[in-house]
Amino acid sequence: MAKVWVDKNLCIACGSCIAIAPEIFEWDTDGKSKAKISEINDQNLLELAKNAQMACPTGAIKIEE
Ligand code: SF4
Repeated sequence: MAKVWVDKNLCIACGSCIAIAPEIFEWDTDGKSKAKISEINDQNLLELAKNAQMACPTGAIKIEE
């Protein structure tokens, strides 16, 4: 099980994570990204989350395994 979240202080709302992993990330009401699921139990989804993390230009995506 892994926890995933977005550090809103770092997110610049570029949209990369939502484009890469719409199963995990979505726009929040503040215009920034948020994780719509906070816990990942599926290996494929975890890989997707990691891809989004690598693509994030500001390191805003946090994954804790
Ligand atoms: Fe925000 Fe990073 Fe997602 Fe861009 S990729 S919307 S900076 S969390």
